Amino acid sequence: MPFQPETYQRILKEIGTGVTLIAVSKLQPVQVIRNAYTAGQKDFGENYVQELIEKAGQLPDDIRWHFIGHLQSNKIKYIAPFVHLIHGVDSLKLLAAINKEAGKIQRTLHCLLQVHVAKEETKHGFDPHSLQGIHAADYPNLELCGIMGMATFTDDEQVLQNEFHLLKQTFDTLKQKFPDFKYLSMGMSGDYPLAIQCGSNMVRIGSLLFGARLA
Ligand SMILES: *Cc1c(COP(=O)(O)O)cnc(C)c1O
Repeated sequence: MPFQPETYQRILKEIGTGVTLIAVSKLQPVQVIRNAYTAGQKDFGENYVQELIEKAGQLPDDIRWHFIGHLQSNKIKYIAPFVHLIHGVDSLKLLAAINKEAGKIQRTLHCLLQVHVAKEETKHGFDPHSLQGIHAADYPNLELCGIMGMATFTDDEQVLQNEFHLLKQTFDTLKQKFPDFKYLSMGMSGDYPLAIQCGSNMVRIGSLLFGARLA
């Protein structure tokens, strides 16, 4: 399925101007990104380093690329020169490695701390209670701008709501400690209206905009 302009306009209207829409284009061809770009979309999310650098090389420079996947330390250097925001920072080790890479290229890198609230063990992220142990001063080359979370894959609204509330609470608490905190990235195709009701200001939407992915 190609990019759906009507769906795009409907989502923009629905989420309002206070919420940033990240169009998740992983495993979608370059042409559908171009179509979304032409319709006015500038923020795109990708999960795989190799795929991101191949696509970025073929697309306009004013696209803001969000890395939303699980990032391996040895691949940071490939995206560091151009990435707009790294959403999936899920360990102290990765934070330190990104900070180091940012220092090497003298570019401040913007990061979100990924917080684990879902039932699935396979999902990544910090335990919400472990985050107080992070100190912005330890990462002078980073701007820690908020948190990212993924709810459990379920239709149970109560479970989703509890998890989104926990993410919002975590965000509000940490905001007092981290001066640059501004983004609460939560909500995907299946759950973004509820995520916004619970305080999200950044949603990551893929399949609703672009249809099923190739893999
Ligand atoms: C793939 C992905 C999305 C988009 O999922 P959809 O259900 O297709 O909207 C959002 N966030 C992350 C972290 C993803 O990996």
